[in-house]
Amino acid sequence: MKTTKTLALVAHDNMKRDLAEWVAWNWANLLKHKLVCTGTTGRMVERTLLENLGESCENAGCDITLLKSGPLGGDQQLGSMIAEGKVDALIFFWDPMSAQPHDVDVKALLRLATLYNVPTAINRSTADFLISSPLFNELEYEPVVKDYKEYIERTLTQA
Ligand code: PGA
Repeated sequence: MKTTKTLALVAHDNMKRDLAEWVAWNWANLLKHKLVCTGTTGRMVERTLLENLGESCENAGCDITLLKSGPLGGDQQLGSMIAEGKVDALIFFWDPMSAQPHDVDVKALLRLATLYNVPTAINRSTADFLISSPLFNELEYEPVVKDYKEYIERTLTQA
């Protein structure tokens, strides 16, 4: 993992204000990294960066990719990026107080983040710890990912 990271940002609707505050607090640090967001979260992140930068993300040189909105497949797109090793850390402010229409997608995203040992923050305090870690900002770090070769071999011999 290089010192410039790809950071995925997602927030459920009731948590978007929390993420906006977190982005406003960390905007200078966030600009050093690549951001990838589900659709509506991404638009909110862009707006928050704009408020703090005073100029558009493009002009300020920030690198932000907007996927589809979460309920329309954005969580799955992010999960696919994780499976391909394209996400270094995930900040996911999920809503613990409301049912989500795409609950299965949320679960799948969190499962893949766990499977691939992606540093994941599911609340603000953990996000603070993650972004202030020297492992995030200064050092190269390679998360250990389990080798599932044996699992694949076993599945094949059982088939
Ligand atoms: P959104 O999706 O950023 O498009 O709101 C987030 C989610 O619900 O997963």
